[in-house]
Amino acid sequence: MITVLRIGHRPYRDKRITTHVGLVARAFNADNILIDTKDEKLENNILSVVDRFGGTFQVETGVNWRKILHSWNGKIIHLTMYGEHIDEVFNKITKGVDLLIVVGSEKVRREIYEIADYNIAIGHQPHSEVAALALFLDRYFKGSELKIGFNGKLRIVGSQKGKIVIEKKA
Ligand code: SAM
Repeated sequence: MITVLRIGHRPYRDKRITTHVGLVARAFNADNILIDTKDEKLENNILSVVDRFGGTFQVETGVNWRKILHSWNGKIIHLTMYGEHIDEVFNKITKGVDLLIVVGSEKVRREIYEIADYNIAIGHQPHSEVAALALFLDRYFKGSELKIGFNGKLRIVGSQKGKIVIEKKA
């Protein structure tokens, strides 16, 4: 099971980027996302994608991130540009355990670095939590996540030009 924990969400500033973190988590085969600040609108936006495009992805906002980190039964991965390069640490990640993948927004507190089992950098340049999460999950699932069938009401058929969307009969 893979859970994403988004820390530092500010509803007035981050609604778009946190929505994208959630959509990447879902599309790249994580099971759920936990977000520290309560934001029902954000929950509904992500759940409406789940409703239309399928899968069992779950969202919870307003969680106590410290409690989650301290009670996590599995390994904690913190994505940060200050961590060890993904190429150096990836093979050391314990397999077959639940993963909590932490992404921040602004400055991330020191205690997250301490409690994480792995602080992993997707390169050592500052970029984005969306990109970092996508690249980490793609490495983790070796690209297989891009072929998941989500069994949704809507299914997109890739085409050279145009848009083909198949709607499932109710
Ligand atoms: N200075 C911040 C810090 O303390 O890491 C960076 C803030 S950045 C806008 C927001 C989040 O994107 C970070 O908390 C981290 O999760 C992710 N991120 C940005 N660049 C990254 C990188 N090169 N590798 C891994 N994660 C990164």
